[in-house]
Amino acid sequence: PAVVEMRGITKVYRSGGGARVVEVQALRGIDLTIEQGEYVAIMGPSGSGKSTLMHLIGLLDSPTSGSYKLGGVETSGLSEVELAKIRNQRIGFVFQAFFLLPKLTALHNVALPLVYRGVGLAERLRRSKAALEAVGLGDRLDHRPSELSGGQKQRVAIARALVQEPDILLADEPTGNLDSKSAEEILALFDLLHQEGKTVIMVTHEPDVGARAQRIIRLRDGLIVGTVGEAA
Ligand code: ADP
Ligand code: ADP
Repeated sequence: PAVVEMRGITKVYRSGGGARVVEVQALRGIDLTIEQGEYVAIMGPSGSGKSTLMHLIGLLDSPTSGSYKLGGVETSGLSEVELAKIRNQRIGFVFQAFFLLPKLTALHNVALPLVYRGVGLAERLRRSKAALEAVGLGDRLDHRPSELSGGQKQRVAIARALVQEPDILLADEPTGNLDSKSAEEILALFDLLHQEGKTVIMVTHEPDVGARAQRIIRLRDGLIVGTVGEAA
């Protein structure tokens, strides 16, 4: 089944006021279907609309017009509260900058989203340990971020995304802050997650990184201008 179904999605940013309103057409009519279990890279030059599309897929922002079904649920017209609920259930985010809390151990960083969901302590620790083992960090549970390499920090961030069992892992330039060896660790992990059936969507401007995906979606001036690879 499709996890992401977009039809005629547009996004217009308006800034300024009065006679000085400036409008930017960041997305100009996106039709995009992503099936469950696909591994997709969104690529394109700076300003082509990658971040905007990523924010819309992740329900961090709403489109100006068009239809977006996430996991079969139409999201247009939903309130902020309803969108946040769907976002927390279905999307695991991974960012270039990790966003780990420095004073917490790897285990407690991963457990944090479960605190907000009301999962009890023993269950939180059990699931967080399993998530860290799944990303190859079973021997780093009690390390703080400052005691981990860049690649290990990003793996903690991926474990934190996975611990909520999201439908989609949404990664924005996940290797942008990493040296090539650490980047390779992360890409190998994405390969593994894809093999296990996870849906992975990443934004990258690095051709070598994008080439690891099963399908590359190319954006230019707010439109999809090409797709490389198989639609699953
Ligand atoms: P990319 O991620 O490919 O660099 P973006 O989605 O960030 O592209 O931006 C697409 C276009 O929308 C650009 O012209 C950018 O300047 C504009 N834009 C993005 N965010 C905003 C915003 N919050 N307000 C106004 N314009 C924006
Ligand atoms: P990213 O690394 O995700 O592309 P940037 O550092 O380029 O993000 O931009 C930071 C934020 O500013 C993004 O959320 C982007 O959408 C927004 N932005 C980009 N261009 C503009 C703009 N012209 N006016 C206002 N906000 C913008």
